[in-house]
Amino acid sequence: MIFTSPWGPLKNWPKRNGAQYMVDSPFRESLDRPAFIDAPTGEVITIREQRTAIRRLAARFQDEYDLKKDDVVLLFGFNTIHTHTIHMATLSVLAVVSPANIMYNASELAHQASVVQPKLVIAADNKLDIAREAIRHAKIDTTVVSYSQMQNEIRHLIHNPSAREQAPIDCDGTTQHAYYCFSSGTSGLPKGVITTHLNIASNIGQQVETNSGMIRELHVFGAVLPMSHIYGLNSFVWLSQYRQVTCVVFPSFDFEMLLQSIVKYRISMLALVPPIILLFAKHPLVAKYPDIKKYLKFVKSGAAPISSSTIDLASSRLGNLDITQGYGLTETSPVTHTTGWDEKGYDNSTVGWLVPSCEARLVDPDTGKDVGYNERGELWVRGPNIMAGYLKDEKSTKNTFSDDGEWFKTGDVAVVDKSGQFQIVDRIKELIKSKGHQVAPAELEAILLSHPKVSDAAVVGVRDEDGVTELPRAYAVLHADANPRDVLSWFNKKVSKHKRFWGGMVVVDAIPKSPSGKILRRFLRDKKEEPKNVI
Ligand code: AMP
Repeated sequence: MIFTSPWGPLKNWPKRNGAQYMVDSPFRESLDRPAFIDAPTGEVITIREQRTAIRRLAARFQDEYDLKKDDVVLLFGFNTIHTHTIHMATLSVLAVVSPANIMYNASELAHQASVVQPKLVIAADNKLDIAREAIRHAKIDTTVVSYSQMQNEIRHLIHNPSAREQAPIDCDGTTQHAYYCFSSGTSGLPKGVITTHLNIASNIGQQVETNSGMIRELHVFGAVLPMSHIYGLNSFVWLSQYRQVTCVVFPSFDFEMLLQSIVKYRISMLALVPPIILLFAKHPLVAKYPDIKKYLKFVKSGAAPISSSTIDLASSRLGNLDITQGYGLTETSPVTHTTGWDEKGYDNSTVGWLVPSCEARLVDPDTGKDVGYNERGELWVRGPNIMAGYLKDEKSTKNTFSDDGEWFKTGDVAVVDKSGQFQIVDRIKELIKSKGHQVAPAELEAILLSHPKVSDAAVVGVRDEDGVTELPRAYAVLHADANPRDVLSWFNKKVSKHKRFWGGMVVVDAIPKSPSGKILRRFLRDKKEEPKNVI
């Protein structure tokens, strides 16, 4: 059975350069309105300045940095008011943006760099050392520049009328690569997801043609989540600018600064992940800022599961705020399901309805047969927003699509009710989501196994007490003379913060495996571990 969108098919399939799609946005606002405001400093870039900057930076990318079609720009930075400009200038010259998680250490970044082979790396000033080490590690010959240098170049270009300008180069957006974000997909190590110009631009259309993308003109969007992850990339770099609303940018997450800024900049909309919504529901600081109720009108939750009770708690504390869920994956650019604002009949335990032109099936993973309403099945989707595949990894690409290549298999288990709303009820893939960040068990297992005193290992995600995030937990078989605490602290030094074993480590005699040698992750995940066994 094929489920379809209640909003019908997408009216306009954007098949040209995505940067041109942005310029052609029908949502006309005053060009002197701020496009982005930096929350800590108040620095502004207006829509007019941004448009000029994009054309001039595109020309500079060609003239000074020799960027050509299919060259890759690796971004390793915090959110800035110029991130949109860098993305659009890169896409204008048909180069590809590969954003990296700012929490990565050198070896994690080296993995991404060696897959995408960047021609240019733009790194945050305090991350330049890590970027250089990663490039050395990956043995790549590339130019590394700092964000402050790039931002100064952009500020200078805005005020330099003699700078050459380059408009977005025409291309076939259905095949031209736009982004390589990294995702581990259903199993294994992080892989480069090929997002085409059509994929990302159509996903903006898919939201705008539902009520959820209709961010109204006078709204102000808060960009708290990283623009390096597809959720923030889509919401702030793309949707906010296509709709021409002002976006207040937070370089890093600081809850009090967020609360202050909601009042200071009159932020009316936020796209968040469940652990931040929990802060709104429970943190004492919220009471210090009663005015946030006046300004904040809409919140979207995505990237990980959240319960209705947490949503209801946050919503009532903030004066019956409209909090709705959306769902998607890096591989789906990302939104496949959403809810309109003030949508009648919306059930907040669900992720809403399929977006226009996105179709779904629910397939029983054991029998391979489709299931119908109110039955559990793996969610398969197809539509203009589904990635072209994993970069240089045909095997993983093949495995993640159905045998006929038509359907993308999400690895999530869902149920759909008669109103067409989907609920995500389980995850059958390996992936762990820790505070909205991806953690790939296979990557952590490989690191743990590289310790000389670890003979076998498995990593799973366990729910934290509040139920809003998963925490990576290790199961390890150790040599008799190993000190488990030493192994744990050795490991935690080797990975970025979100990949540490926040869920602890359990020493076992053997890792449970299927007859074919596959780790029985579900068994470990569902095991109620005695606290005394968790180091
Ligand atoms: P990522 O590619 O990092 O965006 O991760 C995608 C995965 O996050 C999905 O396959 C789901 O497992 C999970 N996810 C995203 N949104 C939701 C949601 N609203 N509810 C439950 N899980 C979600």
